[in-house]
Amino acid sequence: MRFCRFLANDGPRYGVIESQAGREMVAPIDHTFQAAPRRTGAWVALGEVKLLAPVQPGKLVCVGRNYREHAKELGNPVPEELLTFLKPPSTVIGPGEKIVRPAITQRLDFEGELAIVIGKQCRHIREGEDVRQYIRGFTCANDVTARDIQKKDAQWTRGKGFDTFCPVGPVVTDEIDPWKGVRVQTRVNGELKQDGNTDQFIFSIEQILRYITRVMTLYPGDLIPTGTPAGVGQLQAGDTVEVRIEGIGSLTNPVVDERV
Ligand code: MG
Repeated sequence: MRFCRFLANDGPRYGVIESQAGREMVAPIDHTFQAAPRRTGAWVALGEVKLLAPVQPGKLVCVGRNYREHAKELGNPVPEELLTFLKPPSTVIGPGEKIVRPAITQRLDFEGELAIVIGKQCRHIREGEDVRQYIRGFTCANDVTARDIQKKDAQWTRGKGFDTFCPVGPVVTDEIDPWKGVRVQTRVNGELKQDGNTDQFIFSIEQILRYITRVMTLYPGDLIPTGTPAGVGQLQAGDTVEVRIEGIGSLTNPVVDERV
């Protein structure tokens, strides 16, 4: 199934997406993350609605350095253990919304990533347990980073945590298979900057979810960006950044300067 959130006549609604007679259509549902969401309204053309961030996560638990080539490009050793950090839910924006470059950073970077959307509460996932039962689907995320502030601070709270630093979308789908490998690409103003594949993960989805749930409970809607491939680079005001993942679609956002 494919899900989205969109602006209906009566406000934001979760929606289910289906192809009907060659057209992509969306209908409101009562909630994205239930096992069997109930349809609550009429179909409308997907192209005619304004899409919002498809999830409203209670928390974002991000994986750092999960692609060998990306660890190397930042001068970091290939990690022997997982590295995770939090981004606040206030970083989340939807497709087309503006990434605001804070006045106090000189170095704003994009990081295109596949993100896991949790579908079922989980804690202490055991070795060998099937993790697919806890996953509602996958979406695109851009783990926008103020690199200079991230490097300066021992904690990454500021460098990763500014408002608008996590574009998410356009849809959530369970119709892709990142275990087999899906392509993760990032473009800036149309120019290809990152071209990775989830078959290059250092740590598997199983390892990631076991590692996190040893520490904390994951709830439906929580978002797990799985790390970025090689090729990270800088964004300037006026740029348009696009994260495109095979089978999910394209997440595009403009960059503007903060007005203070
Ligand atoms: Mg990242």
